Amino acid sequence: MAVSEAVIRKCVHCGFCTATCPTYVLLGDELDSPRGRIYLIKTMLETRADPTPEVVKHIDRCLSCLSCMTTCPSGVNYMHLVDHARAYIEQKYQRPLSERIIRGLLAWVLPHPGRFRLALRVARLVRPIGPLAAKTAHTRPLAAMLALTPRSLPPKPSGINEPAPSSRGRVALLQGCAEPVLRPEFRAAAVRLLNRVGLDVVFAQNEVCCGALVHHMGRDAASLAAARRNVDAWTLEIENGGLDAIVVTASGCGTTIKDYGFMLRDDPIYAKKAERVSTLACDISELLASGDLPSGSGRGLTVAYHAACSLQHGQKVTDAPKRLLARAGYTVQTPAEGHLCCGSAGTYNLLQPELAGRLGDRKVSNLERLKPDVIATGNIGCAMQIGARTDTPVVHTVELLDWATGGPAPASLANHPAARNNS
Ligand code: SF4
Ligand code: SF4
Repeated sequence: MAVSEAVIRKCVHCGFCTATCPTYVLLGDELDSPRGRIYLIKTMLETRADPTPEVVKHIDRCLSCLSCMTTCPSGVNYMHLVDHARAYIEQKYQRPLSERIIRGLLAWVLPHPGRFRLALRVARLVRPIGPLAAKTAHTRPLAAMLALTPRSLPPKPSGINEPAPSSRGRVALLQGCAEPVLRPEFRAAAVRLLNRVGLDVVFAQNEVCCGALVHHMGRDAASLAAARRNVDAWTLEIENGGLDAIVVTASGCGTTIKDYGFMLRDDPIYAKKAERVSTLACDISELLASGDLPSGSGRGLTVAYHAACSLQHGQKVTDAPKRLLARAGYTVQTPAEGHLCCGSAGTYNLLQPELAGRLGDRKVSNLERLKPDVIATGNIGCAMQIGARTDTPVVHTVELLDWATGGPAPASLANHPAARNNS
């Protein structure tokens, strides 16, 4: 409460944040703006009232994209405030049964790669019922899940680490939960790149999902349990061999891991260790930008760079990916409304399919206007959300960097003439 009160006090109600809030841009309702939500949260926390369905509706509609934090001149930490509000709602509000089932299912499945893989197999079989499920509000999230299910599943990742040419350091790479199931090629490209700049890559034993998915659902106990387990796993690596960085290829996870220090600040056993982990955590583009990745030819390709909200607003990493792509020889373009979320936002595109769909279509139309050969991003959620709406290949930034510096062409560019000429 004290932390949230301090956040609320910083808000001077100027309303600058409303213009850059995706839900306000779409709906034009003050209560779907950051300023409106801050007001709702303030009233709810001050009166210690049970959340009303109206309050829950407006908080649920927030993407946690953190665009408002980039815009705010007053330094309001909206992330910590809305995280608190979500946890408060989770404790004090009983959602309708259908919502409880869907949310429970997502929290049970998504953080576990084995369960997620199995769920995708089942989803592919029942995909034909998607249009039927889309007809009623209760089952619309189910329809959204089925629509986002990939038509084919890549094999399980293998061949993890290659020997580093000259070990200039040792880093742990987050293994993730959804990314290795949906696009294992992201991690493979990341390992090759890290090895190419002389870094030895390790995967910590007993590491689990970073906890972001359940954290954004307000499930504090589950997210803190995940954070503690990962802090233990990486602390073991720090103490046995040392770590120069904890590298993350999914920026949504990176934002949460960088916040472990705050999340576990009151835990006497974990506070210090969590702070150390958060300090070591970095997005892969941050690490590569500070190294000496060789330059490349870029093969004459134009890349539309989509900045994931968690990277640009959550971590304030804005230039590094674009600079790296340009250094690798690509022509880099950025779309109009680059600050607006694509609608992926963790489980948002499953729980709020209508708003997420509108944002996704808007994002893809802005990206396609650039007529790029390929779209690059640094977050698996964005890659899936955008990839489901366009025929332009969508890759992770590291796949393009890997290709330009000696690695194989990205699988999703296999049919592009530049990839065929190269192979
Ligand atoms: S996090 Fe995003 S959606 Fe939520 S209030 Fe801020 S700008 Fe709006
Ligand atoms: S921009 Fe910052 S200070 Fe202004 S209303 Fe939004 S959150 Fe409050």
